[in-house]
Amino acid sequence: SKTAYVRTKPHLNIGTMGHVDHGKTTLTAAITKVLAERGSGSFVPFDRIDRAPEEAARGITINIAHVEYETDTRHYAHVDMPGHADYVKNMVTGAAQLDGAILVVSALDGIMPQTAEHVLLARQVGVDHIVVAINKADAGDEELTDLVELEVRDLLSAHGYGGESAPVVRVSGLKALEGDPRWTASIDALLDAVDTYVPMPERYVDAPFLLPVENVLTITGRGTVVTGAVERGTVRVGDRVQVLGAGLETVVTGLETFGKPMEEAQAGDNVALLLRGVPRDAVRRGHVVAAPGSVVPSRRFTARVYVLSAREGGRTTPVATGYRPQFYIRTADVVGDVDLGEAAVARPGDTVMMTVELGRDVPWRPGSDSPSVRAAARSAPAR
Ligand code: GDP
Ligand code: MG
Repeated sequence: SKTAYVRTKPHLNIGTMGHVDHGKTTLTAAITKVLAERGSGSFVPFDRIDRAPEEAARGITINIAHVEYETDTRHYAHVDMPGHADYVKNMVTGAAQLDGAILVVSALDGIMPQTAEHVLLARQVGVDHIVVAINKADAGDEELTDLVELEVRDLLSAHGYGGESAPVVRVSGLKALEGDPRWTASIDALLDAVDTYVPMPERYVDAPFLLPVENVLTITGRGTVVTGAVERGTVRVGDRVQVLGAGLETVVTGLETFGKPMEEAQAGDNVALLLRGVPRDAVRRGHVVAAPGSVVPSRRFTARVYVLSAREGGRTTPVATGYRPQFYIRTADVVGDVDLGEAAVARPGDTVMMTVELGRDVPWRPGSDSPSVRAAARSAPAR
């Protein structure tokens, strides 16, 4: 039988971001290698990260690789994505809920368009801490690398990340993978920076259980499994749960994290829940598994909304009453009708009150005590 997951350290979700070919996947592999050699986790080679199986969700293909590892003080789930479009999809739709990010910038190329776009995206979806890895430092000229560092700090400051205080670590994923001691030490330094700079986010473990469904699978002979990150509360094998969206109640008969069975999952954990007697087709991405009666779905809400300007990655034209954007709420996407009341029109850069009528009921909690509920509305598909 499989080894059970033992919770000895706090768990955080992080990921690599940055321009294509700057070395995100190489660095991800190198991190697992360096830690595996210390006996905390297993080495995940480049090919297994880069060729993660595609997941089809709501008509779009999402490519996302999850690896796990432990430092001395923490357990991490780390996501790496192959293409720029995958970042936009995963981050805007909330599939990758990062507590912190490692921004990978090549010492040879410096900031490139996707570097800047990922920083902007991180800001928009609420990633509050970025650690910079200036990668390929083995091949870069020292003075040029100094310039790259200045440039990255400016970029972070421009997006409110406090560029002067953010850790910037010069690394070589490639040389560390080859076992070079100097560059192996650079990976340790990077991980130390992540351990100390990215704070442990507040986890609402005492709140009623809630998990937004990211994916649904069938395990032959066992039943239907849903996967996702626990947003709040805890869940144990044997607990009764409600599946909002599917309109059913059932019992959790199994719990796993990264293939290891666990007794209890809590806020922040990435888990798979086995649900008793639920047909595969009944549950979809966007549904919510929750403690029975703990959330009341509704379709109408009033919100104070800031309309991003074009410079911030938002719109060039105003929004008016009657506008029907797509709303991303946890893992669900729903079309909604916008009513701006007396203002009637909102220009990019304006802050307005709006009433929204969604196309279907979605579980909400009003007010500012719902930190991980975010709705993003974009006028055009972000590239
Ligand atoms: P990604 O697109 O950001 O995931 O980049 P990859 O990890 O696929 O790396 C892109 C290319 O850069 C590959 O040819 C790597 O071998 C090379 N590369 C990655 N890291 C380093 C490094 O630290 N030093 C050098 N010299 N090359 C690297
Ligand atoms: Mg890659």
